[in-house]
Amino acid sequence: MKLPEHILYCIQTLERAGFPAYAVGGCVRDALLGIRPHDYDLCTSALPQQIRDLFSAYPQVHAGEKHGTVGVIFGQEVVEITTFRREGGYGDHRHPDWVQFVSSVEEDLSRRDFTVNAMAWSPTRGLADPFGGQRDLQQGILRAVGEPEARFREDALRILRGVRFAARFRLQPEEKTRQAMEALAPLLETIAAERIFEELTGILLCTDAEHLLTFARVLVTAVPELAPAVGFDQCNPHHAYDLYTHIAWVTDGVPAERSLRWAAFLHDLGKIATFTRDETGRGHFYGHGKEGATAAEEILIRLKAPGELRREVVLLISEHMNLLSPDRKLLRRRISRFGPEFLEKLLILQRADRRAKGTGTPDESEFDAAQAMLRQILAEEGALTLKSLQISGHDLMELGIPAGKTMGSVLNRLLELVLEEKIENAPAPLREKALELYGEEEAK
Ligand code: ATP
Ligand code: MG
Repeated sequence: MKLPEHILYCIQTLERAGFPAYAVGGCVRDALLGIRPHDYDLCTSALPQQIRDLFSAYPQVHAGEKHGTVGVIFGQEVVEITTFRREGGYGDHRHPDWVQFVSSVEEDLSRRDFTVNAMAWSPTRGLADPFGGQRDLQQGILRAVGEPEARFREDALRILRGVRFAARFRLQPEEKTRQAMEALAPLLETIAAERIFEELTGILLCTDAEHLLTFARVLVTAVPELAPAVGFDQCNPHHAYDLYTHIAWVTDGVPAERSLRWAAFLHDLGKIATFTRDETGRGHFYGHGKEGATAAEEILIRLKAPGELRREVVLLISEHMNLLSPDRKLLRRRISRFGPEFLEKLLILQRADRRAKGTGTPDESEFDAAQAMLRQILAEEGALTLKSLQISGHDLMELGIPAGKTMGSVLNRLLELVLEEKIENAPAPLREKALELYGEEEAK
């Protein structure tokens, strides 16, 4: 494992003063996988005060000192150096009630969550791997350190961390670990909503259909509204999959981007509440887009998702059944209402939805045509909004139309007429029409 200069320097400084020191956790795991680590954490037998003194020439961060962590700043980077420690208590199923500094690296590694995260490496001492993390990494196994049930009971967030690491590194859960994750998932209820949201987002960004199916039970415990989707028979010849499997494939089918992945994961919540069967026994889900959008909004509010993300996800879900057809006027209206980036995302979601039915290769010619037309309109005239009208409020004032509500109505009606291609988007016809509309507004 090749360490950057400043990390080597930290380890050597600690070792020269008589303190064993290692790179630990994620950076060791990543290096063994041949991935460049995004940061390096160090652990050592030195106590926080001793770490402070040894690196007194550098700026430091002391916020984590109670838990043994001193941050040493090298240029833009903070290197966290943490005293070997044990911890316990976990009265709230998340945070240790006490930490105790210890002298052996093995003891420090035993408090960590998964074997693949519980390795340390030093250039002189080699790999410390008391729980077989390297072997598990090679064999693609996610395994809790120690007794899985006890470890998840201590800190329930580890369950979702496990789902995330499994997705990121394509690991399969070892049987006892998997059982404990499922059995203790209800403890997630005790964890702060923001943390759940953050982990779920991390999971959604690196998951695939197979992984979503493997961890279905844990995921639908974290988002209970999805629980009825598992095994839900859609009773519809267009759908070969149960609802959750369909959702998993749609999520797999959209690019790894936050709003698209969340929208895909929650897009069919409304199917459960709107399910009806006709006299032939066939299932229908009338209005499930809107219904699902309401359910998704409640979930995202509960999880304290950022407002901007929430609004985009809710709108994607609410619109996902309104297929974009290659109709120029309609498309121009929707560009003006939703903006071009949103429509591109909606098309992606709708395509993924169409592909994830498990009934063979779908016909996507409508989507291709709508997409081509959307791009053509944008290339020719950009997004049509009030701003792109070839007449401004200032121009209207020059025509004698005072600023205010009436002017707003005139501008909006002008935009409507341009979108419907009833008048040309050019200054002269717009000016003429503006005066006519102003007259009508005044007469109202
Ligand atoms: P990433 O690349 O996502 O940062 P990481 O493994 O570095 O992955 P961190 O959350 O930065 O993950 O945590 C650093 C290390 O601390 C982990 O590798 C693990 O050994 C330990 N750790 C972090 N969170 C927990 C936890 N909740 N329970 C037990 N050990 C943990
Ligand atoms: Mg990390």
